[in-house]
This record gives sequence, C-alpha cells and structure tokens, in this order.
Amino acid sequence: MDKLSKQKRLDLFEKTCRSHGLPVTIQRRVILETVLDLDNHPTADQVFVEASKRIPDISRTTVYRTLDTLTRISVITKACHPGSSVRYDTRIDVHHHLVCQSCDDVIDISDDRLDRIPIPDTSSLGFEVNDFSVQLRGICSRCKQKEDQS
Ligand SMILES: [Zn+2]
Ligand SMILES: [Zn+2]
Repeated sequence: MDKLSKQKRLDLFEKTCRSHGLPVTIQRRVILETVLDLDNHPTADQVFVEASKRIPDISRTTVYRTLDTLTRISVITKACHPGSSVRYDTRIDVHHHLVCQSCDDVIDISDDRLDRIPIPDTSSLGFEVNDFSVQLRGICSRCKQKEDQS
C-alpha cells in the first residue's frame, strides 16, 4: 500500500474511532498500520509477529482483541478462511479472492461481473444476506512454478 493511501486509511481510522467513542491508542494505530503494511490478508498470528517488532511487549491477546475491534468498526474486514485461521483484509470495498489450495495465499481480484451475480432468495431460511465475496480456488503462480519444476 502506498504512503498516501496508508495515510488516508489512518485518518479514516482516527475519525471512525472518534465516532465510536473509542480512544485512538498507540496499540490500535500500530496494529492497523501493521495490517496495512502486511497487505496480504494476514492471519492474527502474522500480525502479532510483525506488531511485536514494533511494540516488543505487546501480548497476543491484545493483538487479537484489537483486530476484533478494528473489524467491528469496519476499518478492516475479515476475509475468507482458506486455512484454519481468520484472515484480515485491508480492503473494505467489494472485491473477491483467488485462494491458492497449495499455500493458502489469498489474492484480491475485482470483477464487475462477479459484483453483479444474482443473490439467491434466502428468506425461507430466515437468513438475511448483507454482503458477499466470491472465492475462486486454484493454484497460484508461485506454486504452479514449483510444480512445473519438480
Ligand atoms: Zn500457492
Ligand atoms: Zn481481499
């Protein structure tokens, strides 16, 4: 993520915190910055490892709790769960994911046609759809290359 869009996201974060009556703590800011810097759908553990380099005494619990808070106020979102762990997403607009079945890498894609797919009527199930994201599974270029070499 480039410097300007990162700054915009940090400004948005401060505004959002204020509107939710949440204090803008150093920890919240650093954890958001870490997610923005990793920028590749990191797991909470990956965020913890990276955030520890910036705040050495930060606890895993704090990181997990802060990620929950940032998700709740929609500063970041939770992406799909290709492995067993939740992946956090810095993109908050409608987009879709390519998920590698070999390395669990998650790659963003935007596609107008996917944005417009018809949503089935789920009212008979008592389920209200708020949002959706399409997940396309396959093999990423790196894994494909490794496969071809072996
Ligand atoms: Zn892969
Ligand atoms: Zn994404």
